[in-house]
Amino acid sequence: MPEYTPTIGLEIHAELKTLTKMFCNSKNDPDEKRPNVNICPVCMAHPGTLPVINKAAVRHMIRIGLAVGGTIADFTEFDRKNYFYPDIPKGYQISQYKYPIVTGGTINGVALTRIHLEEDTARSQHGTGGTSLIDYNRAGVPLMELVTEPVIKSAKQAGDFARELQLVLRYLGASEANMEKGEMRVEANVSVSKDQDKFGTKVEIKNLNSFNVVERAIKYEIERQIDEIENGVKVVQETRGWDDGKQKTYSQRVKESSHDYRYFPDPDLPKLKLSEIEEFKQLKETLPELPWQKRDRLNKEFGLREEAVEIFVTDHPIGKFFEDTVKGHESDKEFVSLASNYITSDMLALLKLEDPTADIGEDEVALRMFKISATDFAELITMLKEGKVSSRAGKDILGALLRVGGSPKEYAEKHTLLQKNDEGELEKIIDDIISTNEKVASEVKAGKTAALQFLLGQAMKVTKGSANPAILKSLFEKKLLS
Ligand code: ADP
Ligand code: MG
Repeated sequence: MPEYTPTIGLEIHAELKTLTKMFCNSKNDPDEKRPNVNICPVCMAHPGTLPVINKAAVRHMIRIGLAVGGTIADFTEFDRKNYFYPDIPKGYQISQYKYPIVTGGTINGVALTRIHLEEDTARSQHGTGGTSLIDYNRAGVPLMELVTEPVIKSAKQAGDFARELQLVLRYLGASEANMEKGEMRVEANVSVSKDQDKFGTKVEIKNLNSFNVVERAIKYEIERQIDEIENGVKVVQETRGWDDGKQKTYSQRVKESSHDYRYFPDPDLPKLKLSEIEEFKQLKETLPELPWQKRDRLNKEFGLREEAVEIFVTDHPIGKFFEDTVKGHESDKEFVSLASNYITSDMLALLKLEDPTADIGEDEVALRMFKISATDFAELITMLKEGKVSSRAGKDILGALLRVGGSPKEYAEKHTLLQKNDEGELEKIIDDIISTNEKVASEVKAGKTAALQFLLGQAMKVTKGSANPAILKSLFEKKLLS
């Protein structure tokens, strides 16, 4: 019996970072807590008002399109998508239908259908007892919608796609794309089929507000559809929601199709010939290094562990700190790997950022960021590399200086953490220990390795942990075993 093949296509919305809204001068401020303060006659749909295109939003769209290798439309226009709901005061949403700004392109090898520009709707809050509250601060905020081809094959691949899109948007400064805040919203279309050449009926799942939920909802939906078919029930094309409490999708409504919206070009807005607009011509040159380029470069240049690369690619400030630290030491493999390990394990643990995929905005990370400078941190790495401090002391120094800064060398000197590497000095200590522990020493001579551990422990105690354990061991062995 052939297995079922799942097919997934994503539709992802992201609020663009601009000073003002898509078609008026009201502020675009996703952090505004007071309802209905960033509104004006245009976004409140007063009669007689006219929309004006926000060029900054179009600019973001073109840069996103260029970054993902899509085709930027020469001609583009805005359409009215008509529907009645209180979250859309005009009775229609300005969107793009026939001529999206971007077509094609790929992210993570997943083919994109299109990326178009539209306006966000108001935020509605449905209370108990039939009351609904509406906040129009979000109405008219520039929103991009990205649609993928139905080529995604698993929940994990869908989650990874969304994560990568979030990264690109952040790298481009196009959106904070924080899912918990609703700045990025994922809808997943899911179908299953036994026949490789024919898709099954698709179901759309809405309101997926974290990467984990995206993956769990898709997984659940694949299983549900297979069960239905196996039980002889036809999958209905519908929109389903995700119930986080029950960890299930549930039916919301039978999906409307595009002709229900009566799309038509908005007569109030000019059509755009993008290739002729001067300020959009050189945008390719403004693209930063993109996540996949950075990943490649870190791999090639430093040969880091994959998890470390991922941390530096996802977490911009931490990635920058790593690169600043290793500046000038690029060819020193040991230095680079020590620095990478200390940052990705000890430093992250100290920063309570054990989960590198945590969906935290950059500012927030920066706030929690360390005070220790990359130069001082590099000094610590050099000391570790040269055995001037033990790895235990290294962690202590890092812990002490992380939030206050300062020279690791001075700190180590002040707190007598410098490792004793001087063989002459250590030899005297060892002689003392051997003469006060003659019985144990003879056991070592008789081949009892546990006894050697005891002597080493004594030496560490006497030196308050500051002796270089490798040197100690070899000195003991020289004295007792040769
Ligand atoms: P609609 O007209 O219902 O909006 P579209 O053709 O515009 O459908 O596709 C919407 C999304 O659904 C796209 O992301 C697309 O990749 C995805 N999709 C289309 N058909 C399927 C299918 N059979 N299974 C899974 N996803 C699909
Ligand atoms: Mg569609």
